[in-house]
Amino acid sequence: MSHLVHRSLRSDPPLAVRGEGIFLYDADGRQIIDGSGGAAVACLGHGHPKVIAAIKAQLDKLAYAHTALFSCDSAEALADVMVGHAPGGLTHAYFCSSGSEGNEAAIKMARQYFLEIGQPQRVNFIARRQSYHGNTLGALSAGGNAMRRAPYAPILSKAFHHVSPCYPYRDRRDDESDAQYVARLVAELEAEFQRLGPDTVIAFMAETVVGATLGCATALPGYFEGVKAVCDRHGALLILDEVMSGMGRCGTLHAWEQEGVSPDIQIVAKGLGGGYQPIGGILVHRRVIEGLSRGSGAFMHGHTYQAHPVACAAALAVQQVMAEEKLLENVRAMGARLKQRLTERFGNHRHIGDIRGRGLFWAVEFVQDRATKQVFDPALKLNERVKQEAFRRGLACYPMGGTIDGRHGDHAILAPPYIATPEQIDAIVEIFGEAIDAVLAEVRA
Ligand code: PMP
Repeated sequence: MSHLVHRSLRSDPPLAVRGEGIFLYDADGRQIIDGSGGAAVACLGHGHPKVIAAIKAQLDKLAYAHTALFSCDSAEALADVMVGHAPGGLTHAYFCSSGSEGNEAAIKMARQYFLEIGQPQRVNFIARRQSYHGNTLGALSAGGNAMRRAPYAPILSKAFHHVSPCYPYRDRRDDESDAQYVARLVAELEAEFQRLGPDTVIAFMAETVVGATLGCATALPGYFEGVKAVCDRHGALLILDEVMSGMGRCGTLHAWEQEGVSPDIQIVAKGLGGGYQPIGGILVHRRVIEGLSRGSGAFMHGHTYQAHPVACAAALAVQQVMAEEKLLENVRAMGARLKQRLTERFGNHRHIGDIRGRGLFWAVEFVQDRATKQVFDPALKLNERVKQEAFRRGLACYPMGGTIDGRHGDHAILAPPYIATPEQIDAIVEIFGEAIDAVLAEVRA
């Protein structure tokens, strides 16, 4: 047995020894298609020479300088690329090492902002059920993934309150139009503000497209405009977590560009550095920075490895490659193909209840019965079996279990690298379909 703490303490995973393009290779030289980029991370695929060269060049110049004393070229350049043109009024960037750290920074900056502008009574956050914001305690408190929260529930922060996500597949009533359902969700948020006291709320937090917990659940038109209006009415901030859905994954650089709103604080990670280095961050609206600047003039937060020179050099190169190779266009084109192939393959499948997503970020939700939407018994571990079977057939995908409260079924996510070709998209769906059918045949038997 290995001395490393793996996700499973009972078995060791295979060793990944090499990556090239959309492929990973294990110690036996077996080729695996990285059909989900890990967890929607590897946006450029593996082994991109320009990113590797940028990392080496940065290491040759400077590996590390503490941010209490210095800034560095690569972090400054990355901030310029990300917010130099002030997308949606976002003018400042803070870089850390993961999505969870990004969420912690967003939570603390939002609280500090209200303290500095003379509203210390704001102490509550409203987030959503069936969401995921990370595994550190603040981010886990914000999240609504019942399974991940359960073991730690007694030690989570009581400052976080939860409303329903936008999940029409299960939550829109049969007698409701999309617009009526959206209006009901917006009213639910308004009621939660009223329950807590509207001037006690710091922010509403949401994933722009729900990633791991629900599986690529996009909001209906008007939803984000509705919730933003509630935040504005009560002077609260809108925090959008785009750790999984952002940085091009949904076909625009930021997923919020397709929602008619922009956030006050946005969290980014995965596709920012594409897995070449651990990096996450927050992008911040000028009004929040102005509030902090007029007050103490400091963000009372920080990490030893924030704005790390090598991580920032890697992310800068990833973003440059995305622009040079016009990869957003490929995300949109290959995303349309992925949607079409999934619909052809699973549109009438008796155990696939929903096919949903955007860009190169798609999921299928498993049901026992399409008409009743009855979920599979979690004890069957359908998601785990799909993962194993796909892997055996040469495809890495990203399945998740249904919630322990039975509010949604098992699902599996595909999130191929942005460089994927039409043939590769077809191969991914083919193997995915074969693996799913094999597992379902076994489960039925
Ligand atoms: N937010 C979202 C939306 C995520 O998908 C994730 C990771 N799956 C996180 C936050 C946490 O990021 P990390 O694992 O890098 O801490």
